[in-house]
Amino acid sequence: MLRRPAAAFSSHPEVAAVRVVIDPADRALYDSAVDGLGLLDPVAGGATRQDSSRLGLESFADAAPRNVLIHDAARPFVDSAMVSRVIGALADAPAAVPVLAVSDTLKRGNGQVAETVDRSGLWRAQTPQGFRYAEILTAHRDLSGQGLTDDAAVAERAGLAVAMVAGSEDNVKITTAEDLERARRDLGGVGEIRVGTGFDVHRFKPGDHVTLCGIRIPHDRALEGHSDADAGLHALTDALLGAIGAGDIGVHFPPSDARWKDADSEIFLREAAERVKAAGGAVLNADVTLICEAPRIGPHRTAMTERIAGILGISADRVNVKGTTTEKLGFLGRGEGIAAQAIVSVRINIF
Ligand code: MG
Repeated sequence: MLRRPAAAFSSHPEVAAVRVVIDPADRALYDSAVDGLGLLDPVAGGATRQDSSRLGLESFADAAPRNVLIHDAARPFVDSAMVSRVIGALADAPAAVPVLAVSDTLKRGNGQVAETVDRSGLWRAQTPQGFRYAEILTAHRDLSGQGLTDDAAVAERAGLAVAMVAGSEDNVKITTAEDLERARRDLGGVGEIRVGTGFDVHRFKPGDHVTLCGIRIPHDRALEGHSDADAGLHALTDALLGAIGAGDIGVHFPPSDARWKDADSEIFLREAAERVKAAGGAVLNADVTLICEAPRIGPHRTAMTERIAGILGISADRVNVKGTTTEKLGFLGRGEGIAAQAIVSVRINIF
């Protein structure tokens, strides 16, 4: 919630510095949320929203910037264009507020409608709200303790002209758990897309079958390995771990550990999928290429696809398995082993 708007401001070319007003009890959470964004040190807020705004403004008294923007962090979807509109309006006015038209019909009443309110000339105010710094600081100092619910109201009360600029319907305020659910639903695409790749090779040894992408295939040789030597699932496991920056299969399942002797590689893939989930991620798709002269992969593709989809808990149309050869070139072409490569994409939810 906090990182998204903080990043929107700190990456804006016309914004010189960003400071967040926090409850000092939340300091550890704050530090983890904004890590790496290069913000100024936070300052402690007050008992009311108005107090917190004033304390934030006071913290810039020495820097005395020309303009300041005040934003509710509960509006995570603020975009760069709106920030620019508010800053632009400050060229001609000491204060500016983004607004939206009221589209619903308004009623006044208490359990029963007393009257319909004429909505012409009424607007919904959003943030960020922009101000000439010296003027809003003076207004806040003069009007402290009045319980005003936004900074434009402080400016109005102080007699400053407040310009209106276009707000955005996407710039919603998230106040309740229901708001959060709606934002997740409406803005399902909001998240960070990660990709990871994996590559694995196992050599042939005498035997009568190989296991590839979780499917046992009769063959005149077997694959050598500590576990079941399923190169396909190993490459895919590495790709998942790679997408979330969690190392590789050898880190999590060292061959030196007797537990993994002859293990079904499904265990590794399930563990990697759990780690993706724990990181707030969801696998969008996976694509695996098995590279060998033999056995033929084609007849087993559907079964392999369904097995992987089942382990990852995603639909089969998000999984692809294909086979190829190296045209008899190199160690794979000479039939010395089987290689696999995989790529996955993962969406990490922003919140
Ligand atoms: Mg392997």
